[in-house]
Amino acid sequence: MARWGMVIDLDKCNGCGACAVACIAENNIAPSNPQWFRQGRSIRWMDYLIEKEEHYPEVKKKILPRPCFHCDEPPCIKVCPVRATFKGEGGIVGQVYPRCIGCRYCTTACPYTVRYFNWFVPDWPDEMKPMFNPDVSVRPKGVVEKCTFCHHRLQKAKDRARFEKREMREDDYIPACAEACPAKAIYFGDLDNPEHKVFTLSKSRRVRRLLEDLGTEPKVFYLSEGE
Ligand code: SF4
Ligand code: SF4
Repeated sequence: MARWGMVIDLDKCNGCGACAVACIAENNIAPSNPQWFRQGRSIRWMDYLIEKEEHYPEVKKKILPRPCFHCDEPPCIKVCPVRATFKGEGGIVGQVYPRCIGCRYCTTACPYTVRYFNWFVPDWPDEMKPMFNPDVSVRPKGVVEKCTFCHHRLQKAKDRARFEKREMREDDYIPACAEACPAKAIYFGDLDNPEHKVFTLSKSRRVRRLLEDLGTEPKVFYLSEGE
């Protein structure tokens, strides 16, 4: 059984935001507006954090792309009273929208703040509606949603491999963010498969994980800059 994970090379990331845009398009994430953004009510499954280091005359901007970390020990799952969130195939943390009662215990429990409550009925301009991705359901007002590592792509990859009577290859299943990154800063694959790049990269001496001391065992690794 695979253990899907991601490695993000911060030396390569140039902060262009292509990963975030690709995620919005792939996963039918409704447009926001400046007011919702200020209120912290915008939804961004793939976000990026910007940290400025200003020691005059050197000003440095650090960018940190941030999806859900699909923790091996996810606190968000333990607190859900209705089992609307679960660890599925390959360790991907998923969400059952019709079951979610919107209590938001999970958004409080996630130390990485990557779960989003739908405060509003999702709406799109008419000209955008033909571009919906039919493989991803639209979430209603009142439920929580989050990054899924584009797990609908996993099912398609498995079906393709079965149709072609072969094993799945490393590049068969890639989330939209990794595919869109022009700098090739995002690697994705099976963390337990020595033939996948993420296996080796996740053991690099440059590797860092966020809030590791909490014991959440996140499956997203960062390769630190400038080492
Ligand atoms: S990052 Fe947050 S939402 Fe994602 S699995 Fe970990 S605790 Fe759950
Ligand atoms: S908001 Fe939904 S997924 Fe989160 S804990 Fe409540 S019922 Fe479960």
